[in-house]
Formats: sequence, C-alpha cells, structure tokens
Amino acid sequence: MLRQDMRRRSFLKSALGAGVFALGQTSLPSLYTAAAGLDQKRRFATVKISRERLIRTVVGLRPYRPQGFVVGAERLGDKLIVHNYGHGGAGVTLSWGTASMAADLARETGQGSYAVIGCGVMGLSTARLLQRRGGRVTIYAKEQPPETTSNVAGALWYPTTSFNSQKVDQAFVEKFKLACRISHRAFQDFVGAEYGVRWVETLLLRNDPPQNPELIGGAQLYPETRIYRDQRGDFGFPHVTQFNTMVIEPAVYLNALLRDFHLAGGKIVVQEFRGREEIAALRESVVVNCTGLGARVLFGDDRLIPVRGQLEVLLPQPEVDYCYLSDSIYMFPRRDGIILGGTFEHDRWSLAADANQTTATLEGNARIMKGLRH
Ligand SMILES: Cc1cc2nc3c(=O)[nH]c(=O)nc-3n(C[C@H](O)[C@H](O)[C@H](O)COP(=O)(O)OP(=O)(O)OC[C@H]3O[C@@H](n4cnc5c(N)ncnc54)[C@H](O)[C@@H]3O)c2cc1C
Repeated sequence: MLRQDMRRRSFLKSALGAGVFALGQTSLPSLYTAAAGLDQKRRFATVKISRERLIRTVVGLRPYRPQGFVVGAERLGDKLIVHNYGHGGAGVTLSWGTASMAADLARETGQGSYAVIGCGVMGLSTARLLQRRGGRVTIYAKEQPPETTSNVAGALWYPTTSFNSQKVDQAFVEKFKLACRISHRAFQDFVGAEYGVRWVETLLLRNDPPQNPELIGGAQLYPETRIYRDQRGDFGFPHVTQFNTMVIEPAVYLNALLRDFHLAGGKIVVQEFRGREEIAALRESVVVNCTGLGARVLFGDDRLIPVRGQLEVLLPQPEVDYCYLSDSIYMFPRRDGIILGGTFEHDRWSLAADANQTTATLEGNARIMKGLRH
C-alpha cells in the first residue's frame, strides 16, 4: 500500500470503525447545538507551526490486534500466565481498565507475589493495582521508561484505533466499553501536575456530518459534548464535534507510576525473555504478560502487528489549551512540546524517522491553522 494511503488510516476513520458497537446513551440530535459555530468568545491560540520550532521527531510501533486486546489466563506448566497486551493506539487510554481485569484474574489464584513482564504503561498499571490489592510485585522488563513505546504516545485519552469492528464480537465490545469506563474513572484521580494528567477541550474537525460512533466507548465519557454545523467553517471545517477529555504526559506520568511502584516495595529486574522456558523458570507462580508488541514473538501471536506512528514535537506553547483531530492530522498541547500527528502504517516495523512524513504532518497542521477564525 502506498504511504499516502496508509496515512489515511486516520484517527477519525478508525474511530468510526472502532465504534460501530460503541454507541453511548446520548443520541446525536440532542447533541446538536443551535449555535452557528464554536463559542465566539472562546479564543483558540494559534499553534505556531514551522520547521524551525521542531525540537524532535519520535516514532513508535503501536501493538495492534484487529481482534482487539487480549486479557485472559492460560497455564504454562505449574504457572498461570495472565495476558494483558495488544491495545493498539489506545494503550494509555485503556490502561487502568485492562490492568484491573488482569489484576482480578491474577488475584483469583490467592497468591501473594506476582511477576509482571513489561514496564510500559500496561506493566506499570497492572503492577500498581496488584500492589494496591495487597500483592508483592517484581517487574521483569527489557526496557523501562523512557525507552518504552508508552513514552512515545501522544497521549490523548481517546480509545480509538485499538481494534477492527469487523473482527470482534459483541462480548469483546462489552469488555472494551467496560475497560474504557474503568480507565476513564481511574485517570480522573491522577489529574494534576504531579502525574501530568489534565482535562482539555478537544475538537473533531470534519467535512462530513459526524455519526454517533465518534463517541467511542459511550457518550458519558465525553463531558459537555457539542456538535456544531457551520458552513463558514471553524478551522476550515463545516462540522465540529467538541468535547472534553484528558491529555496524559507520558514522561511525567510513567515516572510517577515508577516512583509509586518503588515506594510500595516493588522491584525491577532488567531481563529480556527469549522464550516461554525462560518465563517458566521465574520463581513466581503467577506471571502477568504486559509485553506489548513483544508478545508476538514471545507467545507466538501472529495477529499482533505494528502500526507505526511518527509524531513531530514543536517548542511548547503554554497558551494553547485545546486539542484537535482531523483524519490523520492532530495536535495535542503538552508541557514538553506541541505534539503533531501523525501516521498510522500497518505492519511497518521501521523506527527510523521519515523526512517526507515530517513535511506532510507540518503541512497538514499548517492548513488547519490557516482555517482558524478566532
Ligand atoms: C505515535 C503513537 C501515538 C500514540 N498515541 C496514543 C494516544 O494518544 N493515546 C493512547 O491511549 N495511546 C496512544 N498510543 C498507543 C500506546 O502507546 C500503546 O498502546 C501503549 O504504549 C502500549 O503499552 P504496553 O505497556 O502494552 O507496551 P510498551 O510500552 O511497548 O511496553 C512493553 C514492555 O514490555 C517489555 N518487553 C517486550 N518484550 C519483552 C521481552 N521479550 N522480554 C522482556 N521484556 C519485554 C518492553 O521492554 C516494555 O518494557 C500511541 C502510540 C504511538 C506509537
């Protein structure tokens, strides 16, 4: 597939796919506002998009399974392996939800000590929940923050691009929605500078009228949702869906989780597992697998593929207090920089930055800024 085609596997299109079963309680007509457009008194600061403000380009591989994340248990000799992997482009978003499900399965054994393999957002959240429920936990991992994929994430709380709606059944969709609800509630307890989590107004910019499935996971997760139709166009788009969600700053957040894990007596062993026999040799009898894309080789899951993402990071602009998403183009303001996205390339493994993609992302975001009317 051509690169440009791959770029079109966008947030919005994937969101539509991911959300076919994910309707919330609120129906669309009730969300439409009588207002002609976004609040005219609301000032949207201009994002200064230029190559000279570019401070870094980052690339990561989303651990994507068209069939959705795996949370479940299997036996390996005398050990119980609990899986928690394959969250695609929504691992940060779903983390507390699937970690809670995995921790429940692990705790059912009645054991007091646990091994968690992986030290990304999934491993750390699962480890913290096991600790909070009274367990002793050792994390075994090849990489720790800041070297994990979780550090590359945007990271908007938005459960998109995590499965293909054609490949999942209703039981999975219910599990997914439950994970969304648990995680959404849990993240609210981390809002503040210490954990790098904050609420932010977010705009979905569209040329076509929006559909209900945009409210992925359920409308109740998106406070103060408004849908505007304005032919004059805000940001150059006639249809804008506005809602509130959270932005998570991975560097701050993952470091804070690491600190909490150590303060609660957790230990980290740097170790790469090359096969199941090395896992079988661990002293703990319950092992939680949070290896992300690593599970493909370690547990032979061929359905797990990378979806490569490249982000451009511009100098921080504290005055920018909103996010936008439009197809594959998006912007999240963080304290460590303005995050510009992005790319979604299925089954591409390269971690090298692609200069053409940098140009396309800068140009795409610059076009959106040209449409800013306020
Ligand atoms: C560009 C980009 C943007 C993204 N934006 C968002 C976003 O806005 N919102 C959102 O929610 N999500 C986003 N994501 C997705 C999110 O980053 C992932 O879903 C999430 O990081 C997966 O977490 P994880 O803990 O499963 O995997 P990882 O962070 O990859 O952690 C895996 C851990 O397992 C260890 N490991 C793997 N194999 C082995 C082995 N054999 N032996 C020992 N250790 C092993 C690794 O060293 C690491 O410690 C984005 C991802 C990318 C790339």
